[in-house]
This record gives sequence, structure tokens and C-alpha cells, in this order.
Amino acid sequence: MAFNTLGLSEKVLAAVEAAGYKEPTAIQSGAIPQVLERRDILGIAQTGTGKTASFTLPMLTLLEKGRARARMPRTLILEPTRELAAQVEENFAKYGTNHKLNVALLIGGVSFSDQDKKLDRGTDVLIATPGRLLDHFERGKLLLQGVEILVIDEADRMLDMGFIPDIERICKLIPFTRQTLFFSATMPPEIQRLTETFLQNPARIEVAPTSSTAENVAQFLKAAESKDYEKRAALRELLEGAEDLKNAIVFCNRKRDVTTLYRSLERHEYNVGALHGDMDQRTRMMMLDNFRKGTIKLLVASDVAARGLDIPEVSHVFNFDVPSNAEDYVHRIGRTGRAGRKGTAFTLVTGEDQKYLDAIQTLIKKDIDWLGDAIDFEAAAQERKARRKAGKPSRNARSSNDNEAAEQPKPSNRRRSQSKPREVVEEQMEELPEMLNPTPVSNLPQRQTGKRSRNDKLEPAFGAGVHIPAFLLREPRPKKAS
Ligand code: AMP
Repeated sequence: MAFNTLGLSEKVLAAVEAAGYKEPTAIQSGAIPQVLERRDILGIAQTGTGKTASFTLPMLTLLEKGRARARMPRTLILEPTRELAAQVEENFAKYGTNHKLNVALLIGGVSFSDQDKKLDRGTDVLIATPGRLLDHFERGKLLLQGVEILVIDEADRMLDMGFIPDIERICKLIPFTRQTLFFSATMPPEIQRLTETFLQNPARIEVAPTSSTAENVAQFLKAAESKDYEKRAALRELLEGAEDLKNAIVFCNRKRDVTTLYRSLERHEYNVGALHGDMDQRTRMMMLDNFRKGTIKLLVASDVAARGLDIPEVSHVFNFDVPSNAEDYVHRIGRTGRAGRKGTAFTLVTGEDQKYLDAIQTLIKKDIDWLGDAIDFEAAAQERKARRKAGKPSRNARSSNDNEAAEQPKPSNRRRSQSKPREVVEEQMEELPEMLNPTPVSNLPQRQTGKRSRNDKLEPAFGAGVHIPAFLLREPRPKKAS
């Protein structure tokens, strides 16, 4: 199927061509004609399927008729996080390059007055997180009676984040005659109920159920010893050996491990960043931006932090841990091999992971190939049993005896900071933003705090006085990762 058979306007088709897209993805060919027919949509699709364009492209076509009035947005897109909202805004900029539409973003961390000014000018597309939207509404600065199209994106994530009451409230504030486009990767009962209440005879388009991993992603398992430092060494070996590695996400199950692994890779001179749920929003957005631009080649992340984020063209995914939730495996792997590109995914497996690995292979209905020898899980279980009997701690226990020294980089690679006592390093690992020496960023707005950093320069402060991690400022060192 070709894009020009879907009913999109000439201006939109020109932007699609400029984006280099050859043909629509399944969600796009399913949803676009229905949106243009003004039907409600229930799109069951995860990120990476081309879902965003499936609503932005027809919306742009429909918005070519009509004009915006002050404080009365014509369309409203609800996103669970600021990053996702910002990504949708980028999509409107990319696909709407031939349109003169006003797009406004209502997210936290930005001053109300700037957002008010945009609303006063008249907004064609309003992209918002639920909380900030309701704040504006309650301040009387926003009227929702003019909304003709409402998009609720990543509904299951909204549920995870406790936004469903806000969504219900917003739905009731928008005229019943609106068109509603609703997207969710999964359909738990609460989401099903919401669609029954707020969608009218929707066209249901379901693509890439979460049990399937893309055909074009080569997946491998790699046996690893269980101790953390041994796993980190195994990961480095995989990184060194990976072919055509352009950029990669390394997933950990625990956010504490994100910090530890990030720190370890840093010490080994990889060009690495980290993303976990406890980092403040602006740091996360900057990190992601640097990863997108290629300034950072490796991104260590937790599942929660990475869910739903559009990170284009990731060549590799590494699972530092086998995820305990089989669906997370599918989400992680979905970060590579997007929109028909080739991707590779490696998973480190220890003797303790059999249960989780079995659950994954059952879910994806195939066995994943081992790179090198497979683990003999039975022997590993016997060994654990014998060790328990002998009163020795499990080899897999995360003990304080972990031999950190065994994974120290070669002396020539070491920097002076590594001579810190191990307890200090571990303490610093606990909180990523605090552990890094803040350095000013000249091209970003700075607020004077009067507080001096160690190198006696003014620290940058954003909103709540957030430090910009020093590694964001480092020159890329593609030596090992590219
Ligand atoms: P999304 O599912 O919206 O997060 O999109 C995933 C990625 O696919 C984005 O980087 C898009 O730019 C890209 N994309 C969207 N539609 C197409 C298409 N028809 N052909 C190729 N790439 C696409």
C-alpha cells in the first residue's frame, strides 16, 4: 500500500516523502483512512509501530480547514509524560512543515505565563500532560468546548501513573460531538471500561501484539556468571564483540543497578548515559536528546524510564538482566529493529534465570539462540543446593564481597577518581544526579544560585535547582562503542 492511497492531503504527503517513508506501517494504513472519515479509533499498538504518525498525519490533513480561536484549542493530545508530549510536538513540526499551524505544549516545568501567551494566540494543536492541562483549565485560561479531536495516547501507561481520573474528567469537559482517537499497547480491564464509556463505535486497529518480537531483530542469549562484576565484564565483552554497533540501550531490572552499571561503564571509558525513573525530568530529556543526537552512544536504562520513549535507530539492545516480567522483554527488544530496520538484541543469562527465560520463550513462542555455550540450569541448581548445604552463600547472592577490583580497567585507562575508597564510590552510585560534579552548560538558560561548585564556577540551575551531570558535556569517545 502507498501513502497516497490513504486520503492524506498534498501538503502532508510532501512531508511524508521528505521524511523518507516509503510505505505506511500497519497501524498507519489501518487508522489513517478511518480518522479521515471522522471515526473514533481504538488503536492497540505499542510505540515503535509508527503509531504517532497514524494520528498526526490525518490530524494535519483535517486541520487544513478552519481556524483556531483564542484559548479554544481545536485539537487536544494527552500524553502521560513530558518526554512523550515533547516527542509528539516534534512530530507535528516534522510532518507539519508545510502548514502554518499553532502547536502548543502544556507540560510541567515550564512557566504558566509563556503557555498562556500561546493559548491566547489560538492553538490548533494542544499537546498536554493531564495534570498541567487541568491546572490551566482551573485557572480559567483554557476553554475546552472547541476541541474537535481528542487523542488519548499510551492509555495503559496513564493507568500505571494514576492519571485515569484526570482523563475521565477531561473527557467530560470536551463536547460529546468530538472525535476520539485512543491508543494503548495493552488492554487491561480499566482501559477497556474507559473505551466503552468514551468512544463511540470506534474502528479497532490492533497491530503487533505484545507477545511478538520483530522478525528483523536477531536475538541471542549469553551465559554469564551471576556476580555483578562478572556480569559487567560479560557485558563489556559483548559490547566489544558486537558487529555494526551504532548505539545501544542497556536494560537493567533495578534502578540501583542502572546507576552502578552506568558508573562502571564510565570508568571503562565508554561513552555512556543513564536513564532511570528517579532522575528529574529535565535531566532525562537532555540525556535522551544527547542519545538521539549521538553524543551519547550507550544508554543504561530501567524499564519504567524507557517505556514509551521514541528513540530512533537503536542498532542494539543489551539486557543486563533477564527481565522478570516477560512482556518487558518484548518492550525492550522493540527498541531495535523498528520500522523494518535490522536490529540485534543480547541477553545476559545466569544460572538463576531459568524461570524468567522460560516465561519469555513461552510468550514469544520461540527459543532464543545461545551465543556460545548454553547454561546447564540443572547443574546450576545442583550447585546452588550443594553450596547451601555446605553453608556457603550462593554464588549468585549480591554480597558485599563482590570483587570490584576484578573489573577495574587496565591501569592506563584509569582516572584519578578511581582511587576513592570503594565505600565512597558505592555511596555515590546511589544517586546519579548527586554523584556527578556539576559543570555549567553555556547554551542553556541559567539561574544564579550563588552556590559555587567545586571548580568555583556557578552551577546551572533549572526550575528546582537541578544539576546537569558532567557526562552530558563530555566529548563523545566513540573508541569502544562505535
Ligand atoms: P512511533 O511508533 O510513532 O514511536 O514511531 C517509531 C519510529 O518509526 C519513529 O522514529 C518514526 O519516525 C518512524 N516511522 C513512522 N512511520 C514510518 C514509516 N511509514 N516508515 C518508516 N519509518 C516510520
